[in-house]
Amino acid sequence: MRTRILGLFLTIFCLMTGCQAENLGDPTHDEIKEQPYTYVRHTPQLAGGSEYAHRIPQPLSLADLHQKYKSNFILSGPPHKREIALTFDDAPDTYFTPQVLDALKKMNVKATFFIVGNRAEKHPEIVRRMVREGHAIGNHSYNHANFNKLSDAAFRAQIKKTDEILEKLIGYRPVIVRPPYGNVTEGQIKWLISQKKKIINWNVDSLDWKNLTAEQVSTNVLSGIRPGSIVLQHSAGGKGEDLTGTVQAIPTIIKKLRADGVRFVTVPELLEIDNRSPQ
Ligand SMILES: [Zn+2]
Repeated sequence: MRTRILGLFLTIFCLMTGCQAENLGDPTHDEIKEQPYTYVRHTPQLAGGSEYAHRIPQPLSLADLHQKYKSNFILSGPPHKREIALTFDDAPDTYFTPQVLDALKKMNVKATFFIVGNRAEKHPEIVRRMVREGHAIGNHSYNHANFNKLSDAAFRAQIKKTDEILEKLIGYRPVIVRPPYGNVTEGQIKWLISQKKKIINWNVDSLDWKNLTAEQVSTNVLSGIRPGSIVLQHSAGGKGEDLTGTVQAIPTIIKKLRADGVRFVTVPELLEIDNRSPQ
């Protein structure tokens, strides 16, 4: 009984004074003073010299390359006409590409498809349908390799092999080329120019490969568009990629821009070039 009374007394005492045994003796933040650090040059030097000394000149960025090769490495068309080009990469497949083609047909719009060679070998009928329905065709490599990582020989084979496949299918080798991921080196640009090719990237990215909804795709496209824009979308994907949003966004994008007086053209029409490579 006496112990209980003592316990109760201590509890009341602690409640009144706020005593907390575990915190007693801890220094407060104010008491911890950081010692000033003295900067000294004791670090061993880089044997090969500074980074700066070796990295100049650096390889040009894609933006620099566009500036340097403006007439052949193209991101958009002339800004003085109210025209834009819808482009669809990675075609053909037998699921999304026919849906994109149906949607474009319904809206009476001609677009540009950048074709992966080994997919064209597998589904030639879809490429023939594109041509029949008035769309333009471009070379998008043989198996969607990242050109930055390829030797000269491997890179050239990607272009030539797809050109040969397309020539058999559509009767000519296209002038327009889009490198997978938009990646291309200066040496590759120079070689493509020597082959009379035009490298076509984009200035509006739908980001549709991220499995977006139709609303997200159309917002991405419409928010970035201006006269002369080249819009990047996909009509086929990698494993597990869902392009339903792309298909469903097509009528919305077209209706909205048409209401603003925009005309839809293919990339060769936008740039006023002949898409047939000279023999
Ligand atoms: Zn691609």
